[in-house]
Amino acid sequence: MIISQSKSRKVVIVGTGFVGSSYAYALLNQGIVNELVLVDVNLDKAKGEAADLNHGMPFASPMKIRAGGYEECNNADLVVITAGANQAPGESRLDLVSKNAKIFKTIVTNVMESGFKGIFVVATNPVDVLSHVTLEVSGLPKERVIGSGTILDTARFRYLLSEHFQVDSRNVHAYIIGEHGDSELPVWSHVQIGGVPLSRYAKINDVENDEDMKRIFENVRDAAYHIIERKGATYYGIGLGLVRLTKAILHNENSIVTVSTLLEGEYGINDVYLGVPAIVNEYGVREILELQINESEQQKLQKSASILNEMKEKAFS
Ligand code: NAD
Repeated sequence: MIISQSKSRKVVIVGTGFVGSSYAYALLNQGIVNELVLVDVNLDKAKGEAADLNHGMPFASPMKIRAGGYEECNNADLVVITAGANQAPGESRLDLVSKNAKIFKTIVTNVMESGFKGIFVVATNPVDVLSHVTLEVSGLPKERVIGSGTILDTARFRYLLSEHFQVDSRNVHAYIIGEHGDSELPVWSHVQIGGVPLSRYAKINDVENDEDMKRIFENVRDAAYHIIERKGATYYGIGLGLVRLTKAILHNENSIVTVSTLLEGEYGINDVYLGVPAIVNEYGVREILELQINESEQQKLQKSASILNEMKEKAFS
């Protein structure tokens, strides 16, 4: 019997709470990895999730799923961190900074001590600042430390625009950039419906100040608050967003996704992790796409960057 030695695609998830387990479930459904290891400070939780997921295997694509420790990161392609404290009702993502920065220093050190040679994806909030902490603690090149950034906000934006205009969300091209949080901004100047600029498609002269468009963006920006008020946490959307990113990396797709990455002069911003469209492949972030944003968008992006810069000081202190 010949057993083919196909390349193993191994992902380790650190943190098997709502977000980590939703991501694991979506990975199992889409069958894009061969091996999945669940790590959590609460080992029983990781073991329970692994068993529950494994019991669905006959209905999904074959893959290995188990609970484990940090030694599993040694030959992992991706380590995805979803561990940490969650946003309490009324708490902003930035309020979480000190709590989660401390947790991250331990997690990232443990991962690196395993001899990890892959790519980090960070989803824990505040995701931009914690991606920066991961970069500093790991010592890896910046292209291999990626935050989920505004991947979910961009998806929410495309979805709400698609509902408003009754056009398939896959044909709505739009970006949310900046902080994954209160200072994020929509790039109205580049919204397109199937290649047609929004102003022309919707016959709106001043898109940025249009009441309907303003309401759509507010619903994007405040979506997490609304969901947390109702059900305590958000996790399905980000779970799917993380799978999208995983696929872009492991399948070497060169896809454009709004991830959090280190800006070094792009958009006139330096030494800040924030969400921008970037080309992602098996090496991580290949290239940041520098949109020609207008003056008002540039000002908002600068403001978002300075808020993140202040938070970074808090995380590193
Ligand atoms: P949760 O409380 O359900 O899960 C967190 C898990 O982390 C728990 O299982 C806990 O045991 C584990 N954990 C805590 N400290 C750990 C450590 N030191 N080592 C290993 N595991 C540890 O929370 P959740 O709802 O899954 O949210 C997780 C994070 O994801 C939060 O920071 C949340 O704000 C964030 N989040 C991000 C996005 C996004 O778009 N980036 C969306 C939703 C939630």
